[in-house]
Amino acid sequence: MATELDTLVELQSLDQEFVRHNAVLSELPKKLAAIDAQLASARKRVADAQAAIKAADSTKRQHEQEIATLNDTITKFRGQSSSIKNNDQYKALLSEIAHAEAEIAGHEEKILDVMMNADALQETLKAAEAALKSESVTIEAQKKQTEADSSSEVKAAEAAKAKIAKLRARVDETLLATYDRIRRSRGTAVAEVTEQRCTACKMMIRPQAYARVKACEEVVHCDSCGRILHYVVAHNVQKLASNATGIAHQAEREWMFVPSLGTAGAFVVFINHKGAATMKAYDAQTGAAIAKRVEKNAVCAQIFAEEMREARNLFVDDATLEDTHKEQLPLEVLEDLRHQLPRQ
Ligand SMILES: [Zn+2]
Repeated sequence: MATELDTLVELQSLDQEFVRHNAVLSELPKKLAAIDAQLASARKRVADAQAAIKAADSTKRQHEQEIATLNDTITKFRGQSSSIKNNDQYKALLSEIAHAEAEIAGHEEKILDVMMNADALQETLKAAEAALKSESVTIEAQKKQTEADSSSEVKAAEAAKAKIAKLRARVDETLLATYDRIRRSRGTAVAEVTEQRCTACKMMIRPQAYARVKACEEVVHCDSCGRILHYVVAHNVQKLASNATGIAHQAEREWMFVPSLGTAGAFVVFINHKGAATMKAYDAQTGAAIAKRVEKNAVCAQIFAEEMREARNLFVDDATLEDTHKEQLPLEVLEDLRHQLPRQ
């Protein structure tokens, strides 16, 4: 069961990796569209500047035409002066000419405005063209990068998919179906247990269930979230303890059965406390204390790796067991511990 659970953990991490690659891939078209939009807006700024210059030219030409027409009118008025018969008519003619000349002055002023603005429009166009040129280079590079990202994501997703298929083939079908069902509804199907809590939903695991999880012999589900629980010895022994009840030691401890110690194995408590690693062993047959080692500036998982390799986790809810029974474990404790071992 331990190896099958390990496979599920590996499968879950690959499933998540596969999801991540696909999420990145699904974002790529949006990214490309944004890049295209950026280029389109740079192009539009150039087109707008060109249009503004064209519009200014056309305005200038219109005013010039108006002026030409008005000048024609003035010439016509002056030609009429020979046929004028009285002073009133002459005054009216002069007034018409003055009016046309005033209009010409108005158009000339407008033309001046257009010409004065022309430099600014040319500057805007130049700036927009330069921006387009430099942005085109950047955007081209971004596009290439995005395309490269896309193909590497596709490759990674395919690699994950292939590994997933291999792992799935190694897991029992019923367990696999359970895994898929929980994963569909919860996002993740396997949750690690640390400090007697489900790391996914943070709820405490009841002592009996906790002992079963640590034994790694069957599939145990979290009572609260239903996920398959998984226990990693090294994570639990190495983790700095925060004592939930506030009593006993500010230490972390782990009881284990170590087959290589004692006459037929030993019940051993590993303790990490204030930077020191302690191992205390009781003979599994007699319950007598047989060994104690304390190593300063060490953690159990490293210093006692040899002993822990073959060890099996035990559930002990008395945090002061080895302190109250320094020389000999009481019979009822011995029996309880023996019960937690698989029958020979
Ligand atoms: Zn849970």
